[in-house]
Amino acid sequence: MLKCRDLVNQADLLIDGAELRPGRRLALRAHLLICRHCRRYLRQLDALTDHLHQPPPPLNERDTRAVLERLEPRGR
Ligand SMILES: [Zn+2]
Repeated sequence: MLKCRDLVNQADLLIDGAELRPGRRLALRAHLLICRHCRRYLRQLDALTDHLHQPPPPLNERDTRAVLERLEPRGR
């Protein structure tokens, strides 16, 4: 029987949809069926991964000017 530590160590493979041996995949799924802590961990990891792959929001006019002003050479 898998332990939570085993699932955590392979959580990135599950999130990435990597190819796993059928026996390994079944063991991970069985653990997720009985362990709400790992289900929650996997959900949070999935949400975090999604968030990190999002492009940053576009700057509005005011923020764009603030950035450009910081890029201006001093003393002009
Ligand atoms: Zn667990």
